[in-house]
Amino acid sequence: MSEPDLFESENGVLAGARAVFGNPDAGAQAYRDTLGELIGYYERLMRETRRLIRRSDREELEMNRLNHRLQDLARELEFRATRDTLTGALNRGAIIERAGAMLAGDSLSLIVLDIDHFKRVNDSMGHPVGDTVIRGVVECLERSVQGAGVIGRVGGEEFAALLPARGLDTAVELAERMRLQIEQHVFPVKAGLQVTASFGVSWSPPGTSFEQAYARADEALYQAKRSGRNRVVSLLESELVVPLH
Ligand code: GH3
Ligand code: MG
Ligand code: MG
Repeated sequence: MSEPDLFESENGVLAGARAVFGNPDAGAQAYRDTLGELIGYYERLMRETRRLIRRSDREELEMNRLNHRLQDLARELEFRATRDTLTGALNRGAIIERAGAMLAGDSLSLIVLDIDHFKRVNDSMGHPVGDTVIRGVVECLERSVQGAGVIGRVGGEEFAALLPARGLDTAVELAERMRLQIEQHVFPVKAGLQVTASFGVSWSPPGTSFEQAYARADEALYQAKRSGRNRVVSLLESELVVPLH
């Protein structure tokens, strides 16, 4: 089936004009009539072209708007996929992924921490207050870490800080700052319920797996809990350093 001719009437007028133009005997009236017809069609074509240009400008604007919206949605999706909803910190999956990428090319100091006796907060103040305490702890961590690394929530009331290319001493200093921030922070809990956290720190050379790095930091954290809580314990490869604090 042949395509319909979009310019059927214009082609008809053009054919008529060509016939008049090619006819040496055509009179002035025939020229006048043909010219009048051509002017009418020419003006109509110009009006249509202007309308189409305006429409295509509008559609281009709309397309740009949709494109920006799509980019915003992609960013939002990426944010939601990598963030913990309660605190806005990186979630467990994102921490594992980032730590793996960091360890592929650099050494990594890893801080893990767990709120001390958090069940007591939940039990005596209720879950919503417990949530507020978790958010407050994240604020303390963010204030402390600044540009040195990233922090994430890796469990209910367990958090991690990734410090690429930082030595163990620097990481221990930072963990100590975090510990103090939490100890001094005013949480909305009743008197006698001091909020503190215990910290485990590990340093790992490039090429270490996240599981190995985490297991060492976790072992140090376990020691921090066992030796009295509210303290920082570090573990350099296989050596455990328990402070007297
Ligand atoms: P420890 O000092 O040994 O860590 O004692 P703990 O009481 O903190 O013990 P544990 O770390 O095992 O307790 C974790 C508690 O955290 C249990 C769980 O109900 C609570 N929890 C986990 N996720 C959330 C949360 O999202 N919100 C609140 N409010 N509580 C949570
Ligand atoms: Mg815990
Ligand atoms: Mg705990």
